[in-house]
Amino acid sequence: MQSITILGSTGSVGQATISVVQQHSSKFCVRALVAKNNVSIMTNQCLTICPKYACMIDENAAKMLKSNLIAAGKNDIQVLSGITNACALAMLDDVEMVMSAIVGIAGLKPTFSAIRAGKKILLANKETLITCGKFFMQEAETHNATILPIDSEHNAIFQNLPIKCQKNLGRFPLSKYGISKIVLTASGGVFRKIPQEQLSSVTPEQACTHPNWSMGNKISVDSATMMNKGLEYIEARYLFNAKSNEIQILLHPQSIVHAIVHYTDGNMLAHLAIPDMKIPIAYAMAYPNRMPLKMPSYINTNCLNTLHFAELDYHSYPCLQLAIDANNSGQAATIILNAANEIAVEAFLHKIISFNKIPDIISNVLDVVHFNDPNNIEEILYIDKQARAKTTSLCYVKK
Ligand code: NDP
Repeated sequence: MQSITILGSTGSVGQATISVVQQHSSKFCVRALVAKNNVSIMTNQCLTICPKYACMIDENAAKMLKSNLIAAGKNDIQVLSGITNACALAMLDDVEMVMSAIVGIAGLKPTFSAIRAGKKILLANKETLITCGKFFMQEAETHNATILPIDSEHNAIFQNLPIKCQKNLGRFPLSKYGISKIVLTASGGVFRKIPQEQLSSVTPEQACTHPNWSMGNKISVDSATMMNKGLEYIEARYLFNAKSNEIQILLHPQSIVHAIVHYTDGNMLAHLAIPDMKIPIAYAMAYPNRMPLKMPSYINTNCLNTLHFAELDYHSYPCLQLAIDANNSGQAATIILNAANEIAVEAFLHKIISFNKIPDIISNVLDVVHFNDPNNIEEILYIDKQARAKTTSLCYVKK
C-alpha cells in the first residue's frame, strides 16, 4: 500500500487523482489533502476517502471544513490551515508520493518541501518548473526525489524515453541517449478558427470550454492563448535537458497524439491516448509498473485516419512566442512572464481586460521589469512579487 498527499485536491487534476486512487484502493491510500478555500469539494473528499489530514490554505475555510466534518460525525480527520502545514503534509514520513497539482506559483513551496523530503513527485504544477527549473532539477537530484511528469505531453515524452534517461531525468543531454528531437503537440486552443480581430470580444466562459480537455479555469485560458504550450515548452527544456533546437511544437487539433520522440537512428516513437488526465496520472502512480484503468472510451483505430497535423503559425499565438523568448532570456524573464500571465488571466476571468489584451500586458511587463537570474527561492518570490505588482497596475488601471 502506497500513501499519497494530494496538493490541490479540489481541482481538476486533484479530483482525477482521487478517481484513480479509488479504482486501485488496494494499492494506494490518500494520507493528506490540500486545497485553498473550496470547502464544499473538500468536505465531500474527506467524507469519501477519509484522509488522516486535510489542510485549507485559508484559515476560515479550514474552520468551516472542521465544522462540516463534525456535523457529519467525522472526528478522526485532523484539519489544518496555512502554507506551513501544507508544506509539512508534503513531507510526511509515511507518504511515498506527492501529487503537485496546486495551480500557479502557489504550488512552489509545498512542491519544494516534497522534493527536499525525497518523495516521488507527480508533477502537474508546471509553474514550479517555469519559475525555477534549473534549481528545481538540481534539488531533486540532491535529495534523490523522483520526478514524474503529469502534463500529458511530458508524460508522453517520458514514456517514450529509454529507461536510463527516465532514471536520470534532466541530468544529461538528450543526444547521449540517441535522441535528436522531441515534439509537443498542440490543439491550437478553443479559438483556433476565430479571426484575430474577433478575439477582443470572446468571453471567459468561451475561453474555458476546451474542445478536448476538461481543466481548471487558469489552464483553460492558457490553452486558449497558447501560453500553456509556451509554458510546456519551458517545462520540457528543464525536465528533459532539451536545447531549443531539440523541441518542436506541432499543431494537432484532436489531442490524440501527445508527443513524438525522434531518435538519431531514424526511429520515431509517438504516444497516443484519449485526452483524459487519469491516463498520465495512473501511469505515474504505478511507475515503473502499469495498472489497468477503467475509462469511458478508448481510441478507436478507425479514428486514426482522421488525425491532422500542421506547422504552427506563431503570429497567431503571441503568448507562445513570448514564452519562448522569455526562456531564451533566462530564469528571471520566465518568472516575470509567469507572474504577468497569472495576473492577466485572472483579470480576464474577472472581465477586467479583454482576451487579446493578455499578450499585450505580459509583453509590457517583460519590457519594463528586469532582474538578474535568481539564486534561491526568496529571490524568485521577490521577482514574482515585483512583476505581479506591475501587472496589476496595468490591468486595473483607473479609467
Ligand atoms: P484547478 O484550478 O482545477 O485547481 C487548482 C487547485 O489548486 C485547487 O485545488 C485549488 O484549491 C488549489 N489552489 C489554488 N490556489 C491555491 C493556493 N494559493 N494555495 C494552495 N492551493 C491552491 O487547476 P488544475 O487542476 O486544472 O491544474 C492544476 C495544475 O496542474 C496547474 O499548474 C496546471 O497547469 C497543471 N495541469 C493541469 C492539467 C489539467 O488537465 N487540468 C493538465 C496538465 C497540467 P481551491 O479549489 O480550494 O481553490
